[in-house]
Amino acid sequence: MADVPPPDISGADALVKVLMAGICATDIELYKGYQNFQGIPGHEFVGRVEEAPQAPELVGKRVTVDINIGCGKCLRCQIGDARHCPLRRALGIRDKDGGFADYCAVPIENLRVLPEGLETIDAVFAEPLAAALQIAQQVHIRHNTKIAVMGDGKMGLLCALALNHYTSDLTLLGRHPEKLGIAAGENISTINVSEVSPEALKQRLRGAFDVVVEATGNPEAVNQAAKLVAPEGTIVAKTTSHRPSEINLAELVVDEITLLGSRCGDIGFAVKCLANRWIHAAPLVESVYPFADFARAFEHAMTPGSLKILVAFESGGGLHPLQQALDGGS
Ligand SMILES: [Zn+2]
Ligand SMILES: [Zn+2]
Repeated sequence: MADVPPPDISGADALVKVLMAGICATDIELYKGYQNFQGIPGHEFVGRVEEAPQAPELVGKRVTVDINIGCGKCLRCQIGDARHCPLRRALGIRDKDGGFADYCAVPIENLRVLPEGLETIDAVFAEPLAAALQIAQQVHIRHNTKIAVMGDGKMGLLCALALNHYTSDLTLLGRHPEKLGIAAGENISTINVSEVSPEALKQRLRGAFDVVVEATGNPEAVNQAAKLVAPEGTIVAKTTSHRPSEINLAELVVDEITLLGSRCGDIGFAVKCLANRWIHAAPLVESVYPFADFARAFEHAMTPGSLKILVAFESGGGLHPLQQALDGGS
């Protein structure tokens, strides 16, 4: 933790007072050295606009953010694709301070105003949910496309909750009964892979899925995904790691499998899904810490198997009401 001066909002930035932020697996990878990031991390957050000299109508509005900031000049930016601008900055990930601070400077065009009825604690999931929804923008999913999501962590669960709206044949593979239970509660089929022998698993699931989403956080798991996917099927890779991975390419070549990388998605669509309660993110919250306890929050987030850890910046101190509820309930 460090005291820093308030961010500079010259140019087209707005000054956003951060209300709540989520700690993501990417933050943990950054901490371990991914992207060589220096600065203030935090790319999943909700705040209130305090100053916006170039868009005064936004002052007082509750917002979340699109994290990708393009250069505005290159070919990708000219076709409206800042996500793939080679010179892009990304809030809290690349060359731009993020939201693990009381204040964050955000380009006005990256702000997404939140509807009144959407709770801050739900809206903080907009960024990771957009990444989950992005899969359906990349792969043509039919009502009967057989999809497996590998990994019942935060991203795996969000991918399952998102894809549940696109196919009736969705299976989540994980190892944690309580997390699989969250998916089962939304009528998603689940398999606890630690309860099935590797032989039985192989018999039952080899080549069983048209699309396999690899969201385990383990860069080697693409090779297991290749065993689950049917010939001519698609593996969607969601894991970003600071560790390089080895892939058995021959398996993909012989079975003519598509390997598809998938990253950020449209924040506005994610906000709509949350505001309309099409997707319920709240069961993914494990704890909410006050910002003063950030170190403890981050340690908790680094504990294997933990679900979403949030940080609340409410002034006046004390625990967030949800944290009180969680403490009272455990
Ligand atoms: Zn994230
Ligand atoms: Zn650009």
